[in-house]
Amino acid sequence: MLTMNVVVCVKQIPDPADPGALDPETKTLKRDVKLILDESDSYGVEMALQLVDQAGGGEVTLVSMAPNNEVGGLRTALAMGAASAVLVSDDALQGSDALGTAKVLAAAIGKSNPDLVIAATESSDGYTGTVPEQIAALMDLPSVTFAKEIAIADGNASVKRQTESGYDSVECPLPCLVSVTAGVVEPRYPSFKGIMAAKSKPVEEVTVADLGIDAGSVGWAGAGQEITEIAEAPAREAGEIIEDEGDAHEKIVAFLDELKVL
Ligand SMILES: Cc1cc2nc3c(=O)[nH]c(=O)nc-3n(C[C@H](O)[C@H](O)[C@H](O)COP(=O)(O)OP(=O)(O)OC[C@H]3O[C@@H](n4cnc5c(N)ncnc54)[C@H](O)[C@@H]3O)c2cc1C
Repeated sequence: MLTMNVVVCVKQIPDPADPGALDPETKTLKRDVKLILDESDSYGVEMALQLVDQAGGGEVTLVSMAPNNEVGGLRTALAMGAASAVLVSDDALQGSDALGTAKVLAAAIGKSNPDLVIAATESSDGYTGTVPEQIAALMDLPSVTFAKEIAIADGNASVKRQTESGYDSVECPLPCLVSVTAGVVEPRYPSFKGIMAAKSKPVEEVTVADLGIDAGSVGWAGAGQEITEIAEAPAREAGEIIEDEGDAHEKIVAFLDELKVL
């Protein structure tokens, strides 16, 4: 029997239905509300569970960095079927930029020896889409981005990498990091049994010092990026109404073509 150990990076974010406020002083999103599993990461969790099933053995471990010892989103992913989680929560992490986040996640992932690390292409709240590749660089792992399909065989990951016009097939030796796009698999709903089981699954809480990271290299102290301005997202504009004068189908095709969805 082959075994496959997969680490999935899971960001816990304010509920997009009630995202809370921007802090004008620090210019960051206030995260002192209840956090939930970022939907973007539910695809990675599902993909990891499927790969472990296909291998016939192994485990999915979650890794998250979040304030206030938040485990709400982790419990959801554990209820889906992940075996355990590592949560990094520490006041010293407040103000961490993307590289600071990547340093912390890379150290936490390094605690296990995964065959594969999965992250989402970008998170849904304050996203840069850069964290996965920074983790890969820090861990000296090869990485593949925009994956819509992953198959594992003979110590290699075969990845279908989404492009504007279709997909590229990429082969990558394990261990590696793959970031997946949203909508690639149908994330399972946690069953009642899964929700109950998740309550007693291990969540290891660690601090910056536990990971051997110098507190001055993360948080506000270590941030090499600066947020210079923040603004509320503009209200959604009304859509374009196409009157059918016999050519509506052509206008719709041209519109979709312009969006590159055809
Ligand atoms: C100067 C500065 C200060 C900031 N201060 C704060 C702050 O105080 N608090 C705060 O929350 N944010 C803060 N941010 C934003 C913060 O840097 C980013 O939200 C964070 O680094 C994650 O990056 P991202 O969302 O751009 O990740 P992306 O690159 O868009 O994420 C891609 C994927 O990486 C993984 N990932 C990303 N972040 C995490 C995580 N935390 N845990 C597990 N997996 C993850 C997930 O799989 C995610 O889907 C600050 C940014 C700057 C520039």
